[in-house]
Amino acid sequence: MQVSTQSHFIQDQKLDHFFNQKTKFKYDYYIEKTMQYLSGFLDNSSFYSGASASQLNSKKKSLSFSNDETCSIEDALEQIKDLYLDHAISFQHPRYVAHLNCPVVLPALVGDLIASSVNTAVETWDQSTSATLIEQEVIRWICDKMNLPKSADGVFTSGGTQSNFMALLLARDHYAFTYFGLNLKENGWSDVVSKFRFFCSEKAHFSLKKNAALLGMGYKAIITVATDEKMKMKPEALVQAIEREKQLGNIAIGVAATAGTTDFGSFDPLQTIAKIAKEYNIWYHIDGAYGGGYILSETHKHLLDGTALADSITIDFHKTMFQPVCSSAFLVGDTQNFKYISHYADYLNPLEHRNEDCPNLIEKSIQTTRRFDALKLWFTLKMTGEKQLGSFLEKVHYLALDLYHSIKDDTCFEIVLKPELSTLVFRYKNYEHQHNSKLDRINLHIKNKLFATGQASIASTKLDGNIFLKFTLLNPTSTIEDLLEIIYLIKETANEYKIQNEKAYAH
Ligand SMILES: *Cc1c(COP(=O)(O)O)cnc(C)c1O
Repeated sequence: MQVSTQSHFIQDQKLDHFFNQKTKFKYDYYIEKTMQYLSGFLDNSSFYSGASASQLNSKKKSLSFSNDETCSIEDALEQIKDLYLDHAISFQHPRYVAHLNCPVVLPALVGDLIASSVNTAVETWDQSTSATLIEQEVIRWICDKMNLPKSADGVFTSGGTQSNFMALLLARDHYAFTYFGLNLKENGWSDVVSKFRFFCSEKAHFSLKKNAALLGMGYKAIITVATDEKMKMKPEALVQAIEREKQLGNIAIGVAATAGTTDFGSFDPLQTIAKIAKEYNIWYHIDGAYGGGYILSETHKHLLDGTALADSITIDFHKTMFQPVCSSAFLVGDTQNFKYISHYADYLNPLEHRNEDCPNLIEKSIQTTRRFDALKLWFTLKMTGEKQLGSFLEKVHYLALDLYHSIKDDTCFEIVLKPELSTLVFRYKNYEHQHNSKLDRINLHIKNKLFATGQASIASTKLDGNIFLKFTLLNPTSTIEDLLEIIYLIKETANEYKIQNEKAYAH
């Protein structure tokens, strides 16, 4: 037996793959090699290689791994270049204007490298020590920015979806506890919960519905409220919706105002909604996944007036503070409300060892093992600074405005709305007597063609069932000229489409 154990170790030559004091030079070497490939990635000329899905699928063989054929760092990097880095989407490229992915700042990358290498898990003090203090400091900073009271608190999450999940969970359990004396955490579902209704605008993020389903309440628990012509929730429609649900025998438990809708960047009237929430004694959540970062901008922070009254707030640093994924927070106005999720595990954070000086962040999180995501934001705040972050956001807002003014009188385009943040939703529309279905086809073609050829990545969305194109601008190093080049490509692609279709029609 002993012999075979011994031989097992002899076969294993890879102990130097661990990050420790003996492998320091190897670590340096790996990082240095990796940097060469990353700088190669930055030199990719377009935002995407334009490889088709079948071309990428044909590389599947080299995707696989087998223990008989492990390779060197050089070989692995060469393979990953061919498989991934050559085809990864460059969010920092000026031709990428599709989704809410931001280019990342260098200080954040330093923080992420440290966080990954040291591998701190922030859930308990004994694993995290001062990393806990750093996360709490960053949370305190954003709570203060949002003008939340002293009782406020928060935690880093995986993203806006998870933060919105926590908002719904806390709203539900708080209402059940306060008004029905129910402890859902201990006892689980109660029939009255089937009547709980949570309100948001029809332009709110889909994660609210999805989360209601995950919480066992179903999509039906989310009541969507009409928006005005600027895509903002109509407060009177909110009141009507609450009254209507009450008449139906249902129970209003909360409302989510969106601070920066995903498509239009529109802000619901936060203060008015806060007042309504207070009148009805319901939970007031603000989904600021996109617009929350604009609290740092002089030109926009007034749109966030009303955050002080929130029971909870979602903010995504990986959207508008130039952080690598994941970096996001869930904030509460009153830290006591974390009691609905806190759990005391004998092996991690036994209640009898609770100590104010050595907090266990697990008591505020739905995750257990959790990355030290606050570190990259800490580096960013230290080195880039909040004023500069705010000015980056102003820059992308003015880019969106510039683009709006550049094409608003162009007969080729129909624009939905003047941008409030940094998105522009519009569609190509240049034929006489056009039917929506034809416009849908041409706009979809434009989007797909520009992506497939690696020329530009733009998003599409639907408005009243029809396809519109969307620019999401989060890159402060882009210029209006960059954007106008994409506009030119859109027109060119539309013209080609028209010529081809007319030919096809003639035949
Ligand atoms: C992006 C977004 C979310 C979801 O955030 P993730 O970080 O992608 O999970 C939620 N709400 C709004 C308004 C968003 O724009």
